[in-house]
Amino acid sequence: MSRELPKAADVVILGAGVMGASIAFHLARRGAGRVLVLDKADVASGGSGRSSALVRMHYSFPPEVDLAVKSLEIFRSWKDYVGRDGHFRETGFVRIVPEKEIPRLEKNVAMQRSRGVDARVVSRQELREIAPAWNVDDVPKAAWEPGSGHGDGAGVAADFLERAREMGVEYRSQTRVAAFAVEGGRLRGVRTDRGEVAAPRVVAAAGPWSRPLFAAVGFDLPVEGEYHEVAILKDPPGLPRVGPACIDGVTTTYFRPEVGGLTLVGDFWGKRGADPDAFPQSPSPDTLAELVGRAVGRVPALEDAAIWRGVTGVYDVSPDFRPLIGPVPGVEGLFTVCGFSGMGFKISPAVGLCVAERLLDGRASSVDISAFDPERFARGAPIHAEWEYGDEEPAAYT
Ligand SMILES: Cc1cc2nc3c(=O)[nH]c(=O)nc-3n(C[C@H](O)[C@H](O)[C@H](O)COP(=O)(O)OP(=O)(O)OC[C@H]3O[C@@H](n4cnc5c(N)ncnc54)[C@H](O)[C@@H]3O)c2cc1C
Repeated sequence: MSRELPKAADVVILGAGVMGASIAFHLARRGAGRVLVLDKADVASGGSGRSSALVRMHYSFPPEVDLAVKSLEIFRSWKDYVGRDGHFRETGFVRIVPEKEIPRLEKNVAMQRSRGVDARVVSRQELREIAPAWNVDDVPKAAWEPGSGHGDGAGVAADFLERAREMGVEYRSQTRVAAFAVEGGRLRGVRTDRGEVAAPRVVAAAGPWSRPLFAAVGFDLPVEGEYHEVAILKDPPGLPRVGPACIDGVTTTYFRPEVGGLTLVGDFWGKRGADPDAFPQSPSPDTLAELVGRAVGRVPALEDAAIWRGVTGVYDVSPDFRPLIGPVPGVEGLFTVCGFSGMGFKISPAVGLCVAERLLDGRASSVDISAFDPERFARGAPIHAEWEYGDEEPAAYT
């Protein structure tokens, strides 16, 4: 059980997932005063501890590319930056899209390259050399990032939080924030199940639990829970390596090698309306069989792979599948960082850095995050990237 709850802080961070922990670390690095992290359970107990943790730079919206590039730099220099061994594994990454979207893929890769990404468009023949185990008969071209790969959500959250605590951040687990305390449009602190904490600033990084907290202070945060299932397969003896990580818009699966001769397979599609406090803790065998069946279309040898175990989790999905990062209108001092729509792990280092800059300097200088303004939906201005794919469009989700 964690110690007594402090009565006051300069900044309270709600949630000890990759986002809350990264924000705490970056605030501590800047000497931001008394920083207190609260979690109703414990570090990485939300989506962060269940993440497939793919790391790729391939986005269609430039600020997301910038966040991913900055984060990869941090993942790669973890030892110097955080003082821990690190979790990043470079496997390479391939993005496959339906043939009719290849012109978009080419535009996006050009945009990514202009922002410093080591990416290129490869032909079917080159892809066969990169991933000999794959059937790519239906893939004339794909995007290839040799320097991408995957990490570990629980490890990243734990490292950030541990280092933040060494720098003076206070952490209390098993402490649920029941409400924000607001007076005359100004935030006064938080009410928890263990008492009140006075604070002029609160950053809520509460993932799929965010919406009701904000509804209570009159802000409709349009973030919904979406239930997802992931299969972890034991590689068959004939499969030397599954190959690089891949997001495949044709089979609508993603997959990547996992340490220990395993392959992880996830789905583009999930079930909306999920309750983050009440979802199945193990996947349905039928759903996993169907999911793996689709991935077999790309990696035929997985046909003989045994399902080792499954992972379930809940995404915090926003209407345009992009995060909401910034101040909440109507309550001075209150910030939200949520809505990562199943894609937050890979950008969490840079999000924490930018949120700390935004809080301390008034603007984020490492990456311009102003496009992720939480008010954009109320203004009727969701994000729409110039060369968005069909699988990024809200209509693709039914
Ligand atoms: C199955 C799955 C696969 C994924 N795969 C990938 C991937 O391959 N690549 C990628 O980049 N991203 C992926 N993601 C997404 C990524 O993991 C998330 O975007 C990221 O972990 C979100 O982190 P967070 O800190 O915002 O939220 P969370 O990790 O959900 O943390 C929120 C925390 O807030 C706490 N909390 C909530 N309400 C309260 C309250 N009232 N009081 C106190 N504490 C509270 C919770 O206990 C929790 O610990 C995946 C997610 C899932 C579920």
